[in-house]
Amino acid sequence: MLLSVVVPCFNEEENVPYFYEELMKNEEFFASREMDVEVIYVDDGSKDGTVAEVKKLNEKDGRVKLISFSRNFGKEAAIYAGFQKAKGDYVVMMDADLQDPPSLLPTLFEYIDEGYDSVATRRVSRKGEPPIRSFFARQFYKLMNKISKTDIVDGARDYRLMTRPVVDAILAMGEYNRFSKGIFGWVGFSTKWVEFENVERVKGETKWNFWGLLMYSLEGIVAFSTAPLALASYLGVLFCFLAFILIIFIIVRSFFWSDPTPGWQSMVCIISLVSGVQLLCMGIMGQYLSKTYLEVKNRPKYLVKEEI
Ligand code: UDP
Ligand code: MG
Repeated sequence: MLLSVVVPCFNEEENVPYFYEELMKNEEFFASREMDVEVIYVDDGSKDGTVAEVKKLNEKDGRVKLISFSRNFGKEAAIYAGFQKAKGDYVVMMDADLQDPPSLLPTLFEYIDEGYDSVATRRVSRKGEPPIRSFFARQFYKLMNKISKTDIVDGARDYRLMTRPVVDAILAMGEYNRFSKGIFGWVGFSTKWVEFENVERVKGETKWNFWGLLMYSLEGIVAFSTAPLALASYLGVLFCFLAFILIIFIIVRSFFWSDPTPGWQSMVCIISLVSGVQLLCMGIMGQYLSKTYLEVKNRPKYLVKEEI
């Protein structure tokens, strides 16, 4: 039996050796299951000494592997690359900053033994996170679950232990615009959720700012819901209806009373409103079109510079 640990790293030189240490505290547990381990660090175009640190580890321990990208392709691409390289019967994906505690692994395996195909983790608290971010994150999950058929769990982390069939299913989803939380939900399989308290990153800084997260959430919506596309037709029907009522009202009024107001102000307001709505709807369609465009180009999801 082999366990592959996939670790996406972007400027994580301080965390690379630290993560290895923490993971290998499970060595006895691995031995007790007669399970080999491979650790696949995926360097996502880091500008610091991440690659050098992984190489150092590799010299000490041949079970450590490296995939290094030619530039930053994003965490989603790094996960995909790691999964492609993973040979394990089980694959687990963890952040390099130890926000996904390796000490949880024995618990995750308990559920695999119970027969689950995949064991996912979810943080129950968001302590250490700015309150505004938590608020918007919650709203995002609420909205997402309303407009998408795929279940996307609030607080879910990408930290997941999977059996081979699940990994193969994820690899079969070859889309360019990847949104892991959606992909994991989409493939299905029996999944057990394990909860843990939020852990703050040990060293370095988060790669996400508010704007980045907002853009990421919009991408998630475009990738896993087509509900916004229907918005144009709903609004269209609504405005037609309103216009129809208005026409009748104006005709009736001009029959029975003379029409004293030229009414240009109200005209301008209505035109601005309706053209605003039209632009919004066109923008939404543009979002989907641009994603389709990228998908159709069929570019590689990442480019490898070096592999060990
Ligand atoms: N990461 C990556 N590529 C990126 C951004 C992040 O591979 O472009 C990795 C990062 O090194 C870390 C994980 O993804 O291992 C999670 O990133 P981070 O801790 O910054 O996100 P947060 O935990 O704050 O959501
Ligand atoms: Mg983190």
